[in-house]
Amino acid sequence: MTKATEEREELISSIREGVAGVVKQFDADYWLERDEDGHFPEEFHRAMADGGWLGITMPEEYGGSGLGVTEAAVMMHEVAGHGGGMAAASSVHINLFGPHPIVVFGTHEQKSEWIPRLVSGQDKVAFGFTEPDAGLNTTRIKTFAEKVPGGYRVRGQKVWTSTAQVASKIMLLTRTTKYEDCKKPTDGITIFYTDLDRAHIEAQRIPKMGRKAVDSNAVFIEDLFIPEEHRIGEEGKGFSYILHSLNPERILVGTEAVAIGRDALGRAARYAKERIVFDRPIGMNQGIQHPLAERWMYLEAAWLMLMKAAELYDVGKPCGAEANSGKFLGARAGYDACLQAVLTHGGFGYAKEYHVERLLREVTVTRIAPVTEQLIQSFIAEKVLDLPKSY
Ligand SMILES: Cc1cc2nc3c(=O)[nH]c(=O)nc-3n(C[C@H](O)[C@H](O)[C@H](O)COP(=O)(O)OP(=O)(O)OC[C@H]3O[C@@H](n4cnc5c(N)ncnc54)[C@H](O)[C@@H]3O)c2cc1C
Repeated sequence: MTKATEEREELISSIREGVAGVVKQFDADYWLERDEDGHFPEEFHRAMADGGWLGITMPEEYGGSGLGVTEAAVMMHEVAGHGGGMAAASSVHINLFGPHPIVVFGTHEQKSEWIPRLVSGQDKVAFGFTEPDAGLNTTRIKTFAEKVPGGYRVRGQKVWTSTAQVASKIMLLTRTTKYEDCKKPTDGITIFYTDLDRAHIEAQRIPKMGRKAVDSNAVFIEDLFIPEEHRIGEEGKGFSYILHSLNPERILVGTEAVAIGRDALGRAARYAKERIVFDRPIGMNQGIQHPLAERWMYLEAAWLMLMKAAELYDVGKPCGAEANSGKFLGARAGYDACLQAVLTHGGFGYAKEYHVERLLREVTVTRIAPVTEQLIQSFIAEKVLDLPKSY
């Protein structure tokens, strides 16, 4: 092993151990309580901020650690893999690459004002991208920012905006030119980072299947004034800016799904050794062992694809196919492992106290967001297999 590889291995294992040290203070029962009361895990978020983990990918100049997506993936694997699932992951995940458009396209003043507050956990940011009438066709968003003296006046509607109940900031994707008036569908989109001003932004919580502790909302924006200084980069170029954070986000969601799957698989294997039926542990039966062994293999394979995508991203190489595939495979492998864990527990798999039914509910969203399986398949068909665009 070369010295550089050795140092890298050391860094990775120190991240793994450091994050696990914080995460393990919040056991599965803590997350079960949050699943019941729906309260944002403030103590957990604070502990992660105090440990300096929220700034892992942020530039050192602005208080972060300046590390890459590989390190962030290792961190998020620990965050999601000790009983907290997506509730734990989503409470901190957005900090890692969500603000990337600010890092890449923001001015020095914007970065100095906004990034240290995100790193220290003083600010939480919600992402207002998805709209009810546009769905995955982002260029069809209608939230409109009209130019007025000193800034913009915004009105529109967003849906699924996570953390809007607790966030102090919102990253908002808007149109500044109507779709019909643009040469290309991706033109005329502008991105802002601004205060989540509740006098003009109403967030209505959406009751949902899992990740109850991290709220998702229908958001109504009426007559919101955004000063010009809160616009990121140039007007009309926002679509190209958000592309910068898409691949890292996919890699992180994929690793979170693998982590949840591994957590569930571990719980299933332990239960299979302990549960005695017909005078022997159920884990002695191949009908119990084999599906668990198979799930392990799929989880490992997904992890390798995710690490490949992360390495490519970190050295600045194209990684769209690998990041999308890693997210697809990770989410599938994670979901299948959680389902098998529920089945392995028999009736008790359905009981909350064994946590695996919750992990199954938590992991399901990774198959849907931030992009669905169908859209990933269409992407691979078109971009890798050179088949005609299907939509
Ligand atoms: C818990 C949760 C949290 C979220 N958090 C956020 C957030 O913080 N901020 C944010 O902006 N968004 C957020 N989202 C939104 C999420 O990114 C979207 O739900 C997701 O991208 C899918 O979009 P949609 O729901 O509008 O699906 P739709 O676009 O309505 O699609 C519905 C179905 O049709 C399929 N489909 C559509 N078009 C095609 C086609 N051409 N070919 C094949 N299949 C097609 C889709 O794959 C999908 O299965 C969140 C969603 C969830 C569930």
